[in-house]
Amino acid sequence: MDTYRCDILIVGGGIAGLWTANRLLQAGWNVLLLESSALGAAQTLASQGIMHSGVKYGIDGSNREIAQQLKTLPPRWMDCLAGKGELDLSAVKVLSPEQYLWSRDRVIGGFTSAMAGKAMQGEVEDVPKSRWPEVLKANPPSGSLYAVKEAILDIQTVVQSLSNPLQGRTVAGQIQKFHTSEKGVEALEVSLADGRLIRLEAGVFVCTAGSGNEQAAVALGFGMEVTQRRPLRMVLAKGLPQPVYGHCVTTSPKPRATITSHPHEGKWVWYLGGEIAEKGAQMSDDDTLKRAKEEMESIFPSVNWSEVAWACFAVDRAEPRDPKGQLPPEPRLLAKGNSIIAWPTKLVYAPLLADRVIESLPGLGIKPSPLTDFSSLPAAEVGQLPWQQARDWRRL
Ligand SMILES: Cc1cc2nc3c(=O)[nH]c(=O)nc-3n(C[C@H](O)[C@H](O)[C@H](O)COP(=O)(O)OP(=O)(O)OC[C@H]3O[C@@H](n4cnc5c(N)ncnc54)[C@H](O)[C@@H]3O)c2cc1C
Repeated sequence: MDTYRCDILIVGGGIAGLWTANRLLQAGWNVLLLESSALGAAQTLASQGIMHSGVKYGIDGSNREIAQQLKTLPPRWMDCLAGKGELDLSAVKVLSPEQYLWSRDRVIGGFTSAMAGKAMQGEVEDVPKSRWPEVLKANPPSGSLYAVKEAILDIQTVVQSLSNPLQGRTVAGQIQKFHTSEKGVEALEVSLADGRLIRLEAGVFVCTAGSGNEQAAVALGFGMEVTQRRPLRMVLAKGLPQPVYGHCVTTSPKPRATITSHPHEGKWVWYLGGEIAEKGAQMSDDDTLKRAKEEMESIFPSVNWSEVAWACFAVDRAEPRDPKGQLPPEPRLLAKGNSIIAWPTKLVYAPLLADRVIESLPGLGIKPSPLTDFSSLPAAEVGQLPWQQARDWRRL
């Protein structure tokens, strides 16, 4: 079995692994990224690509910690999108520079007063009716329509941009065995996509594998109790003539629907999350789609829904364990010896997660070695978006 050695091995090529690998490479580390499926597979390409600034989380006051922490992150992404940030994301497609928040409930006192306060502070804009999107004009919200400066990114172009600098530094393969000791991970046995079995050694192992972090947590002796999964069944509606981006909110902290729109087959796919996906996780595909259609008909009655094809799929948010089983307020790292397990908890937190990995390196006693060429190993490819993968489209 051949052995390959690098300074830092990143396990998992979602947003966390890709961002961290790029930052480490810039800092001169001989880095290699191992991916078992495709770059961005699992949560990252399934995400809605929203650059959350915390506004949604601050509405009912229950998630103040997340709302505060999130405020600092979108500016870092915006700098990268403008080509003047820590990483070059200037080729990323921005689907929308903002999204909307509106309510359909009659009794929306909390929402109205929270949004009025945010409008006063300039965090949101009360959009004049003349600028409302056509789909909302037909059945106006009960109250104002607010615009939030939270960009929606085409996440596949993010993954592509982050994978470009890593050419010759990604490897497609499955971990067969962890060799661990009290010092952390000593080596991994990996079966490569081309059938070879190799041994990977590194000064530091950083596991950013989403749900795959569970395997690492067990191998390092933390056990499954440090992880949690929160299931969703996301819904796709394709064939729509125009895009819409935003949250239709209720009095509950969860939006009734979170809608992003993505160009597909000459029209738009509306990608539906929020309560539709949360409740869908407890329902069958058929019932999820039926409920999603009813919700969309009620929120957007002017749309001709008979022309639309529907699909759905299950995906888990894979996170560090939160005592209440909710979204943890910030990225988290768990360390044992030379090994770090890391979760961003949100796409938008990836830069902060990379900072924290880099800050923890001086204590680990390694120094950058000369860069090695890993291009003899099979490279990991960029994965597909949910609507590119969906096969079971249905007319309802
Ligand atoms: C439906 C949905 C919508 C979301 N929308 C948003 C949003 O709009 N904005 C936002 O900020 N956040 C959003 N999030 C959260 C965000 O997507 C995640 O927090 C983030 O993508 C997690 O990134 P990650 O790199 O840690 O994990 P993942 O994206 O899950 O990546 C893990 C990678 O590791 C690989 N892997 C797994 N096991 C192994 C192994 N043993 N060896 C090698 N590789 C392995 C996987 O194939 C995968 O490529 C959303 C999440 C979901 C599920």
